[in-house]
Amino acid sequence: MPVSPNIKELMTSSSFIRKMFEEGIQLKARFGAANVFDFSLGNPDLEPPAKVNEMLRNLAASGTTGQHAYMPNAGYQSTRTAMASKVSGEQGVQVDYSHIVMGVGAAGALNAVLKAILQPGDEVLVPAPYFAEYGHYARNHGGVLKPVPTAPDFSLDTAAIAAALTDKSAAIIINSPNNPTGKIYTGEDIKRLAEILARHREKTGRTTVIIADEPYREIVYDGRAIAPIFPVWPATVVVTSFAKNLSLPGERIGYAAVNPACPDARTLVDAIIFTTRILGYVNAPATYQKIVEQCWNEPVDYSSYLVRRNKLTAILDRAKIHYAMPEGAFYLFCRVPAKQNEAEGSIGDDVAFCDHLKKYNILGVPGTGFGKKGWFRLAYCVPEASIDGSSEAFAKAAAEWR
Ligand code: PLP
Repeated sequence: MPVSPNIKELMTSSSFIRKMFEEGIQLKARFGAANVFDFSLGNPDLEPPAKVNEMLRNLAASGTTGQHAYMPNAGYQSTRTAMASKVSGEQGVQVDYSHIVMGVGAAGALNAVLKAILQPGDEVLVPAPYFAEYGHYARNHGGVLKPVPTAPDFSLDTAAIAAALTDKSAAIIINSPNNPTGKIYTGEDIKRLAEILARHREKTGRTTVIIADEPYREIVYDGRAIAPIFPVWPATVVVTSFAKNLSLPGERIGYAAVNPACPDARTLVDAIIFTTRILGYVNAPATYQKIVEQCWNEPVDYSSYLVRRNKLTAILDRAKIHYAMPEGAFYLFCRVPAKQNEAEGSIGDDVAFCDHLKKYNILGVPGTGFGKKGWFRLAYCVPEASIDGSSEAFAKAAAEWR
């Protein structure tokens, strides 16, 4: 088979979520969808705002010609202008359209940015646990992902980051709210990170770029907010998408925003436009650029995620499964319960525990896939009935594991 051995190896070693997804299909066929508690995928289940479909109808009916044509690789200027006003509000810094490059989801934008900045052998730091695909994205462009431990509550461990920085540290990916922990990094955390990066630059001459991956920015609980990074670290690029906040993951629409204060900002933007082209994306989807231009600030009620978070945490409390309380996003990162003969707090076998959960028709993803053994992730963007129905299964599974 003409498949590179390298890709074959990567396919077998990194398919946890995919594997769960496929096992979920089989379990549902066998036991009925209502009897399978599938917490494996971060596929938001809210419908997009009504205006999205309204715009689709209007665009189709408008009779405007050229709606499906090629465009400048950076995207429509009107869309970039709308994104610039979004970013200006979020970052408290004036950004104009020329600092925005529309991307094919956050994943496409991340790949374009990494391609633009990495030299072979460069390191991309990331606080662990982290979104598993980052390792592939860094490797795609000759980089090496370098996970850095976080504090026990999953906040940034800035001392660990300082110790991990080298003259090969091209970037650090900051994902807040975090997938898989739901952690939000505070403004203080971000300031301390910027100070460390500034000291590192003084010492080595290397500027490490902060890549702020923010697809969950709007999904926050208890009045929390995501701290701006542009004012404290000039070499920052925000990448994001409308996959989670507007529930449009299949439409592949996002952007990269370069801090206007970034050294050589113009060249970096030009490089991201170029890499968007040569990676074969060419440009972000035309129709959905038009849609997010108008819909990016449509009000969305995320309160059902909070309701579901609270239901699932109550179920886990009853099953005596410990977890980190999510501050945003829709993932619950849980500790594998200790067995009778194990000390409380010892690192349990997350792969074995997720296999064990399957016997009770519960699907979760082992923490190993996120760079954190002894934990597992439950995505609670699933129907409330599925969460309610899982209560007994969790209680039994945890009791029998012990
Ligand atoms: N970054 C994180 C942290 C994610 O969780 C995801 C998707 O789940 C992505 C990036 C990719 O998002 P998109 O679907 O917009 O490419």
